[in-house]
Amino acid sequence: MSRTVGDGLSELRGKLAAAGIESSAREARRIMAAALGVAPDRVSLMQTDPLPHAAEDRLSGMAARRCAREPLAHILGLRAFYRHEFRVTRHVLDPRPETEVLVEAGLGAPFERVLDLGTGTGCILLSLLAARPGAEGTGTDISEEALAVARENAQGLGVADRCNLLKSDWFSAVEGQFDLIVSNPPYIAAWEMDTLEPELRYEPRGALTDEGDGLTAYRAIAAGAMAHLGPGGRLLLEIGWRQGPDVSEILRAAGFDSLRILSDLDGRDRVVSAARTLS
Ligand code: GLN
Repeated sequence: MSRTVGDGLSELRGKLAAAGIESSAREARRIMAAALGVAPDRVSLMQTDPLPHAAEDRLSGMAARRCAREPLAHILGLRAFYRHEFRVTRHVLDPRPETEVLVEAGLGAPFERVLDLGTGTGCILLSLLAARPGAEGTGTDISEEALAVARENAQGLGVADRCNLLKSDWFSAVEGQFDLIVSNPPYIAAWEMDTLEPELRYEPRGALTDEGDGLTAYRAIAAGAMAHLGPGGRLLLEIGWRQGPDVSEILRAAGFDSLRILSDLDGRDRVVSAARTLS
């Protein structure tokens, strides 16, 4: 006799909770839905259905990976961010909800040409392009594997014809000027890496930390951005919640003005906005 979907679900929830996963109920439902190949909201309707053997096998494989604290987005291969779903692999940073603040801020600025430095999945750039039909964008990454993921996401969102995805070390291969430059660079200091949640071990280390004080990327971006930002253009950078004063100072020293710090939904500093005033 095979188990029911409901039995499988409660056992999975228990395993996830025992592995220290906070939102065990929500994640169990997502994993069960993926094992069954249905939408998560169908799972509760199927509680008394028998769990097919093939689904049982997929379920135990996914459960083992998640209990080893591999990120859910890697197991499902997808992550919802802003208004779309993005393909995610171990070669890119898993898009975080805090980063949506950066997308909102970008859409509050007038732009026709946007540059995203260290695009990863492309979640920031592609969300901006999808929401702003006339705009064009360039996304850079130092990782070829990340660029392949971003290209796939650009196709998926139907914006590939308006976006150029380019291998570049910050500005090294970037040409021309933009109205908006955005980035969510690696900003975790080397010493902080060991204090963070276990899921981060599965993400590319170079997407998370500069192996230094956490500010290396901001120095590189501040040094190059002025030459690639048109007059009146805006620079929006995601920051760690304690980095507002330091990043503001780096940008001010590089000649930026109109500095503002925007908070995320938890009320923490999350984005620094700076302008290049007409001159
Ligand atoms: N731009 C991508 C994101 O915000 C990747 C950022 C990164 O790898 N540091 O998710």
